[in-house]
Amino acid sequence: MSDAPLIKAARALASAKHAIAFTGAGISAESGIPTFRGSGKDSLWSKFKPEELATPEAFERNPKRVWEWYVWRMNLIRKAKPNPGHEALAKLEALGVIKAVVTQNVDGLHQRAGSRHVIELHGSIWRVKCSNPACTFKASISEPPKEIPPKCPACGHYLRPDVVWFGEPLPQDAWGEAVRLAEVSDTILVVGTSGAVYPAAYIPLIIKEGGGTVIEVNVVESSITPYADVFLKGKAGEVLPKLLEAVTKLL
Ligand code: NAD
Ligand code: ZN
Repeated sequence: MSDAPLIKAARALASAKHAIAFTGAGISAESGIPTFRGSGKDSLWSKFKPEELATPEAFERNPKRVWEWYVWRMNLIRKAKPNPGHEALAKLEALGVIKAVVTQNVDGLHQRAGSRHVIELHGSIWRVKCSNPACTFKASISEPPKEIPPKCPACGHYLRPDVVWFGEPLPQDAWGEAVRLAEVSDTILVVGTSGAVYPAAYIPLIIKEGGGTVIEVNVVESSITPYADVFLKGKAGEVLPKLLEAVTKLL
């Protein structure tokens, strides 16, 4: 990567009136958490078929198998640490350069890195909710359940991870807040997302259509690249600290 796009991105961020970040599984890849898509060997798709696991139908068919997959992921995430990419975003927020992180990730690594205003569009692997639509039980957890599938203490139905599965709507409060933030933002820093998952992928489009600036960080081109104003090719954990340094010099 030459310096020119980095400087362009730093200038856009330093002069933005209201900037936000939008992240996907790629920002956590360097923490050792596999992405869903991306390159073959460390993508989750190569080991599991998420269409057989991350759907309400799969859970109905075989809740134990779905839970086994989540317990595997929880253990992986528990051992993982935020990487310099997450840390750079937390510092950009502390500097007032970005106002929030809208994430598609369910791993909680942004919060652990120190980001304060995090909007989780796809829920959190660290929360459970009751699978009985008539029951409103929800709880936070800090480790995988001992017995799977865990049962709801309120009604006895199975608990499920409080994440968004294929074909499910996004949590209304998180989506509403993300759209509101996008509508008032003039700059967005998109990191490590394929831009293939809707409606989440509308968030950077809202800023583009409003005449704002889209900065993208990814190891390869994505569905967002064709309309990105600046494309910073590289790993989030390497590019974001450099971007932070360049922005800091301009403040
Ligand atoms: P994705 O798996 O579709 O795409 C990941 C993107 O990250 C790809 O474009 C890839 O090129 C890029 N990437 C890989 N390594 C990178 C790096 N080191 N630096 C920068 N970019 C890198 O992910 P998505 O677009 O976020 O959407 C997938 C869905 O998967 C979401 O709904 C999310 O909930 C879920 N998911 C979450 C996690 C997590 O919480 N960590 C992990 C896997 C999947
Ligand atoms: Zn219940």
